Amino acid sequence: MSSSLSKRAWKEKLTSEQYKIAREGGTERAFTGEYWDHDGNGVYRCVCCGAELFDSTTKYKSGSGWPSFWDVVDQGNVELHEDRSLGMRRVEVTCASCDAHLGHVFDDGPEPTGKRYCINSASLAFSERDNASSGHSADSSAASET
Ligand SMILES: [Zn+2]
Repeated sequence: MSSSLSKRAWKEKLTSEQYKIAREGGTERAFTGEYWDHDGNGVYRCVCCGAELFDSTTKYKSGSGWPSFWDVVDQGNVELHEDRSLGMRRVEVTCASCDAHLGHVFDDGPEPTGKRYCINSASLAFSERDNASSGHSADSSAASET
């Protein structure tokens, strides 16, 4: 895997907020990130390497102030690590391709998985799904010119 960008290269590629969170394991303040209340139709990718991590169809409103998902796009795209910092036992979620810190996963999520992936907006980059290929249009489609 090509995850061996130097510190300096990451700093050039990312904003300082993204760097602090994705590369140094920081956490953005609740209700301040770009995506906690974001409601698009598409895929959330790793801000560092572009790997597909979470799908908007598994995003839900947890009330935590961070983007929350009950599943990942592919279990192989993330890695889980036990995190005993701050006197708590939590499970850290990182990007399997580039080691970016994403957030934590908890066992109080909704069905069908019961998982709550609590992810920093700063570690994610949203890409809109191409609706042209799906048969039906979304309720707020921009097809007014036809
Ligand atoms: Zn990555």
